[in-house]
Amino acid sequence: MSSESISPKSPIPSILPSLLGLTKDDIVEIFKQHDEPAYRAAQVLEWIYKHRANSIEEMTNLSESLREKLNQQFRFKTLSSVTVQGSEDTTRKYLFKLHDGRYVETVLIPASKGLYGDKADRLTACVSSQVGCAYGCKFCASGLAGLTRNLTADEIVGQLMMVEELSGKKINNIVFMGMGEPLANIKNLEKALDIITGHWGMNIGARHITISTSGLAPMIKKLADRPQQIRLAISLHGATDDVRDQIMPVNSKWNIDELFQALHYYKERSNKRLTLEYILIKGVNDSLEQAKILAKRAKSVKALVNVIPYNTVEGLDWIRPDDEHCYKFRNTVRDTGVVTTMRIEKGHDIDAACGQLRLKQETSEGIIKAPIKV
Ligand code: SAH
Ligand code: SF4
Repeated sequence: MSSESISPKSPIPSILPSLLGLTKDDIVEIFKQHDEPAYRAAQVLEWIYKHRANSIEEMTNLSESLREKLNQQFRFKTLSSVTVQGSEDTTRKYLFKLHDGRYVETVLIPASKGLYGDKADRLTACVSSQVGCAYGCKFCASGLAGLTRNLTADEIVGQLMMVEELSGKKINNIVFMGMGEPLANIKNLEKALDIITGHWGMNIGARHITISTSGLAPMIKKLADRPQQIRLAISLHGATDDVRDQIMPVNSKWNIDELFQALHYYKERSNKRLTLEYILIKGVNDSLEQAKILAKRAKSVKALVNVIPYNTVEGLDWIRPDDEHCYKFRNTVRDTGVVTTMRIEKGHDIDAACGQLRLKQETSEGIIKAPIKV
């Protein structure tokens, strides 16, 4: 498909659904309709998630006629790899092309770095949930050109499958901190979570999955009602409404009080781990006064705090404070007794927050008419 044929308003080409977007129950149901026994569903799932087949043709213990029927109704792999940046021991960034010519990014963070004090043997994948984002945080590359579309469940699962295939490694930790607002795509997110956590699927424990949100309070309550021990991270980035309002338009919909009401509900429903993310932008949200209020807020919901010095985004004027100030801010929070982490990266071009690679690619192909230089 040529890039000229796609504009932000183009409808998604209608295509067959992918097998990677189906839960075990979905496949059992489909096979029932074809008068196929239920154990066939288990066989298909084994081919996909255990043997990591590359096509329906490879599923050789299914009859030829069944494989043909599946081929007529379903696609299999739906992402293709475009570029990989980084190496074995560093953060690796993957750019994937979707069937409609759009792009998403997935990041693989090596074990040695750990995240949120997790054990150092973790291999973490940072996954995208949407192409672009509607929430338009002023500092973020993902939101710069608005939302193109939600990712389907198979595109979410597909990122993980592709990263495991390309790296040859098993992911054991997942953070939804790539492009997009996962809680604005809750239906597809929940389906993907079923497939990712299913013992018949990717079999990754819910405790090893963190969903990051800019603060969609009603959806946080919905997530709290899920029985699974999925972890939550909140992109707070401002400890008071006046500061948060300047950089996160979502705050005008659900302000900090409303957000924290939802977080209290979340904590009451379960004792799942809660993290407050706080990027540091010079002169905007990095005063020590903000640090003190942040610490109070974290205590009120027994949250950890993760301080993230801002990653420069080309075309945006925000800058990160110097290292000394970042440490001062972190220590101010930490000295109150709140568990606080911070990573300072040198040369953070490859580590840059998600959204930049895709923006660059789609801009260079003319898919996005970016008002900014990327
Ligand atoms: N939409 C969700 C998840 C994706 S963003 C959310 O906002 O939580 C993942 C994290 O990266 C968020 O905390 C976001 O605020 C942060 N982020 C975005 N741009 C960044 C940048 N340039 N430098 C550092 N962190 C950034
Ligand atoms: Fe969207 Fe999150 Fe970026 Fe805000 S920080 S624009 S919510 S992806």
